Amino acid sequence: MKKQFKAESKRLMDLMIHSIYTNKEIFLREIISNASDAIDKLHYKSLTDDNIKIKKEDFAITIDIDKENRTLTISDNGIGMTKDELETNLGTIAKSGSFDFKKENEKKEDIDIIGQFGVGFYSAFMVASQVKVISKAYGSSEAYLWESSGIDGYSITECEKEKVGTDIILTIKDDDEEYNTYLEEYEIQRLVKKYSDYITYPIKMEVTKSREKKDKKGEYEEYKEMEILNSLVPLWKRNKNDITKEEYNTFYSDKFFDYELPLTYIHTKAEGTLEYNSLLYIPAHASYDYYSKEYEKGLQLYSNGVLIMEKCAELIPDYYSFVKGVVDSPDLSLNISREMLQQNRVLKTIAGNIEKHIKNELLDMLNNRREDYLKFWSAFGMQIKIGIYSDYGMNKDKLQDLLLFYSSKEKKLVTLNEYLENNKDEKDIYYACGNTVEQIEMLPQVEAVTEKGKEVLYCTEYVDEFVLKTLMKYQEKEFKNVCSDKLDLESNEEKEELKKLNEKSKKLLDYMKEAINVKEVKFTNTLKSHPVCLRNAGSISTQMEKVMNAMPNNENINAEKILEINESHPIATKIQELYKTDKDKLKDFAKILYAQARLIEGLDIDNPTEITNLICDFLAK
Ligand code: ADP
Repeated sequence: MKKQFKAESKRLMDLMIHSIYTNKEIFLREIISNASDAIDKLHYKSLTDDNIKIKKEDFAITIDIDKENRTLTISDNGIGMTKDELETNLGTIAKSGSFDFKKENEKKEDIDIIGQFGVGFYSAFMVASQVKVISKAYGSSEAYLWESSGIDGYSITECEKEKVGTDIILTIKDDDEEYNTYLEEYEIQRLVKKYSDYITYPIKMEVTKSREKKDKKGEYEEYKEMEILNSLVPLWKRNKNDITKEEYNTFYSDKFFDYELPLTYIHTKAEGTLEYNSLLYIPAHASYDYYSKEYEKGLQLYSNGVLIMEKCAELIPDYYSFVKGVVDSPDLSLNISREMLQQNRVLKTIAGNIEKHIKNELLDMLNNRREDYLKFWSAFGMQIKIGIYSDYGMNKDKLQDLLLFYSSKEKKLVTLNEYLENNKDEKDIYYACGNTVEQIEMLPQVEAVTEKGKEVLYCTEYVDEFVLKTLMKYQEKEFKNVCSDKLDLESNEEKEELKKLNEKSKKLLDYMKEAINVKEVKFTNTLKSHPVCLRNAGSISTQMEKVMNAMPNNENINAEKILEINESHPIATKIQELYKTDKDKLKDFAKILYAQARLIEGLDIDNPTEITNLICDFLAK
């Protein structure tokens, strides 16, 4: 009975069958990598299960070409699939790569998709008119045949297969130069070398050779000989100098299913008391689930070429959880359990070294490849920031040099160190918070500081101010919010003058304060053209108030606010007048001015209707 593919699978399948994608050859890589994964699984099982008699050297992937019947068969003696697994694995696209494909590429051209993703098993349909999968699962006595000629469905029937494992039989599409090459030995040899060289199991094929006939000198005959097509040594074990950038990149996209090339790789070989190889990659973008709970960090852990764990979380700290890669050490026992991993001394040492490698690589990128670093920062900067304030700031010293903030002066992202270099005589580091660079730039408080030639760092993300509060200081210099009332930028004379003015107007200012809910109302001489602004008196800033109140279970945090009125603005004279002539109106003025100051900060107004009515009253006059 024929079964239908799920809708998404159908779409992908349709893409494959009608593909004009020029890189169809990747189908072989996809199938071989599935075969290798299947062997990994059985191999790993065999290490702890004595009933599995197969020896490491017997694991292999075998390729067979049958030109007459136009078939290309790829067989493995891996873990195999049960009937149910055939159904779920090959009847639907539920796997990682395919899901990414849906999420991130809905709008992109179909053609890109094939190139960007390892589209897996379905890519076989780019070159095959019919695909058969014969599989016998480990521990099962029956074998099954999955069969499909494309879009109109597939069938699964019981069949005969002696040994555990899987055969994938592709009937190569009909006569055409393009497809015929996939029935040529040299082409298959080339493809294995190109894409699957690092596969740790032998990929075997009978290769045609020729030799001089024994009895007739000068005459040649053809014969077949089984050959191993791949070099078997995994990439991470090879010598750095012999590996091309392309090989590193192919390995990455192949193993980690990323459609974008990595920003950089770190390949290390440690010898001596502790032996290990590691090959780490820093991706160029965050996967769609990176900042969600679903994301699982970890490096692939191998013991002498045998995969023991797909995602070993102990190998990287949370703040570098974006790093992908493999670690291989002969010093790790194969049947190490998850619980034991946490206390494992070897693993701890490796993790410590890896952390240093990553940090050095990031610093190198920051200093010598700023373009790349900016890309890194836009993808994972948030993770570094979270790393700083998590765990009570325990790791802040390790991470602070990686931070970037937008600078009012440089008009680009700078490090804290660069800020200090630029402002050697400054005793503090100034910053301002808001939703966007543009919004912060317009803040009256920012203008008041930049006017004086100071450089201000812009905090545009909700975590930013928490990061600075956690750091407290950078190289002995304190962080100062330009909206705080403790800026102290005026000369003594200016301060004296202002003090006098505020004392003289105390009654007026107190009267205004009564009309609104603030700690204080004051005149200021720091605002250039703007009439009003808010300042924070306590340690909680307006930005923090916003962030904290946006969280669930918030306790309604209130930053202590001071309403400042520009003493040289015409509004200052106007309110002095009103205090003498019309006190009720002054109350309304206070409310409107305060509402304006709140709006500038991006805060809500408690009584919007009242305020708009008041404004309309004034407009109507
Ligand atoms: P992916 O490899 O990205 O998971 P595929 O479409 O290539 O997606 O394969 C789907 C699933 O089918 C695999 O995850 C695996 O469970 C199963 N599979 C494919 N080929 C084999 C094989 N040769 N042996 C055992 N299982 C296989």
